[in-house]
Amino acid sequence: MRKLAAGNWKMNGTSSALCEAEAIGEVANGARAEVLICPPTTLLSRLSALLSESPVATGGQDCHAAASGAHTGDISADMLRDAGARYVILGHSERRTDHGETDEAVCAKVTAAWNARLAAIVCVGETGEERDAGNTLAVVTGQLKGSIPEGASAETLVVAYEPVWAIGTGRVPTTEQIGEVHDALRASLAERFGAEVADGIRLLYGGSVKGANAAEIFAVSNVDGALVGGASLKAADFGPIIQALD
Ligand code: PGA
Repeated sequence: MRKLAAGNWKMNGTSSALCEAEAIGEVANGARAEVLICPPTTLLSRLSALLSESPVATGGQDCHAAASGAHTGDISADMLRDAGARYVILGHSERRTDHGETDEAVCAKVTAAWNARLAAIVCVGETGEERDAGNTLAVVTGQLKGSIPEGASAETLVVAYEPVWAIGTGRVPTTEQIGEVHDALRASLAERFGAEVADGIRLLYGGSVKGANAAEIFAVSNVDGALVGGASLKAADFGPIIQALD
């Protein structure tokens, strides 16, 4: 399976960020891992065009569940695809918290993404309180079941484990904690879709990944790459993470 280094730029970046994308493209040229940048939607077309000769794929950060219609301010999966995207991040904890997205809502968005021929990166992760209460595995496998429709495949689905308490905080779970969750996610996917499909679905870790901790995290079993926020904005930070997947 080809590992994936996915950058989630969140609500960061205007035109001046395009030069960073180009520099990331140069790193990706010599890399074994697949590289993905999910910029804010305003940059998606330009970034896709700029990177069309590079191995870097682009993606959206959310989409609406409907194909089109009266949804002011929203973006459809088809629009993302038209702007050059191949992927879309769905169910990120910031969407679940800021916009009240439920597993059911995320599941409908995944279907919309698949209908537009986008691969979905579905995010799951426990809060600090849920971990302290010993509920981590129940929470993440519950989110996984509820957020993914029938018919998932290795080509159409990536899962990202992002503990909410590790996002943007500099706090990272131990490698044992990451391994425990990734093993449980793989087992849960296998139970539902069969071992062959489950083994091909990439499981990313996300939450305060940086060059300094990437190699240690990627050595954990069932970790097939990373979903990177802050450290994906600059080629100087994202580059070493991409290279740690070589
Ligand atoms: P972070 O964000 O790398 O800045 O912690 C990760 C994410 O939210 O995808």
